[in-house]
Amino acid sequence: MSILKPTARAERITDISIRDLNKLSVRVILLDVDNTVVSYKDKAPIEGCLEWINEAIEAGFELFIVSNNQSRERVRLIAEKFSLPFEYLALKPLPKGFIRAFKRTKCYREECIVIGDQIFTDILGANLAGMKSVLLTPIEEETGFSFKVRRKLEKGLRKKYAEKVPDISE
Ligand SMILES: [Mg+2]
Repeated sequence: MSILKPTARAERITDISIRDLNKLSVRVILLDVDNTVVSYKDKAPIEGCLEWINEAIEAGFELFIVSNNQSRERVRLIAEKFSLPFEYLALKPLPKGFIRAFKRTKCYREECIVIGDQIFTDILGANLAGMKSVLLTPIEEETGFSFKVRRKLEKGLRKKYAEKVPDISE
């Protein structure tokens, strides 16, 4: 199912080669929050994340946070640490959060890349929006029932994509 297929993959956001994002003709980066820039329980960014984001900004990328998290406060606090604009309660895989962020730029959809840890929200949403995507390995496993179901469904796909999708790590 190509609608679920990411453009590239990496273990952590901090492993992504910014030079390779340039090669993909990307100018806008749309970041997931939970299990992407922070662990899903935490408010502190993962090690090296702030530096990675600053490096991307210095390289000329525009960055936005697009989170499904329902807590405006949680997403705002995290976005503030990076000084990035944000969308919360984005309802991914519906593409509207990605599209709202992209409309704040002067770029084309194909120049946007979504970075996230979930196939059925981040990657599916990116494909529905006509954007590129990088699938990450979640930082830690969630405990909620719906997460467990989704992670189980993802398992086979991740295995397949490990062979078919290029690794974009440095
Ligand atoms: Mg996530």
